[in-house]
Amino acid sequence: MRLGALEAGGTKMVCAIGNANGEIYERISIPTETPEITVPKMIEYFKEKDIQALGIGCFGPIDLNRKSETYGYITTTPKLAWKNYNIVGAFADALDIPVGFDTDVNGSALGEATWGITKGLDNSIYITIGTGVGMGIISNGKLLHGMLHPEGGHVLLTRHPKDTYGGKCPYHSNCLEGLAAGPAIEARWGKKGIELADKKEVWELEAYYIGQALVDCIMLLSPQRIVLGGGVMHQEHMMPLVREEVKKQLNGYLVTKELEDLDSYIVLPSLNDNQGIMGALKLAVDELAMQ
Ligand code: ADP
Ligand code: ZN
Repeated sequence: MRLGALEAGGTKMVCAIGNANGEIYERISIPTETPEITVPKMIEYFKEKDIQALGIGCFGPIDLNRKSETYGYITTTPKLAWKNYNIVGAFADALDIPVGFDTDVNGSALGEATWGITKGLDNSIYITIGTGVGMGIISNGKLLHGMLHPEGGHVLLTRHPKDTYGGKCPYHSNCLEGLAAGPAIEARWGKKGIELADKKEVWELEAYYIGQALVDCIMLLSPQRIVLGGGVMHQEHMMPLVREEVKKQLNGYLVTKELEDLDSYIVLPSLNDNQGIMGALKLAVDELAMQ
């Protein structure tokens, strides 16, 4: 069986063909311009590929409520050309196949949970810390949706007493994304993260904020494992500092076998940066199964 997968991002659209085992046969990347320019190119790619379903992991916010009139739309995104755009409808109409749909980071969570490091766990969280911060949550074996979908990048944090930076988020002065995503690092320290590798204080502050968000997630969602992806986590100092900070902030309150071994509790992604596109394949598989 051949399936299509689309990882829809703010700068590029990754389109791939694969199968229900998560194997990818081929892929292309198309720059994200306007829907009028970019969507026909993607449809042209998928049209000749003999696929039985398509899965889309999409930047958000998006409407995931199947009962809503705007199900399958990208909704209030700051990427204005895509605001209120019916992305599921566009592909379903043009290709006449089932189209699975979720957030990009829920897609990554699903990819890891199906074929990667959180396989077999019913409760896991995938957090990406890059240009923005996204959170995908699997709870009781299912991707968490609810009123909308988790927007965990905007959880509010207690500011470090020595941090005078005002925050990058236009909505909140002290949310995780605004204080700790790549652009916040650059704005606070005047250089890109990659150029700050030897500045210990940068990564300690970063771990202080990420650790705080993780402790909140642990208390609230009781995940069995947390995966941290995205460009900022490529900084090799980060993982040990984050684990240390989580341990410090939990302060011994919880005692579980998972928390005894933080090295295998808080981990990097395991699918060579294919977790998003593989997750989109799984969205296609699941949508097909629902028909
Ligand atoms: P996106 O979020 O746009 O999909 P990435 O996950 O690659 O892309 O995140 C890009 C962000 O991560 C940028 O802000 C960049 O400065 C930062 N970044 C990338 N590599 C590193 C690194 N090695 N150390 C620190 N920050 C990094
Ligand atoms: Zn915010």
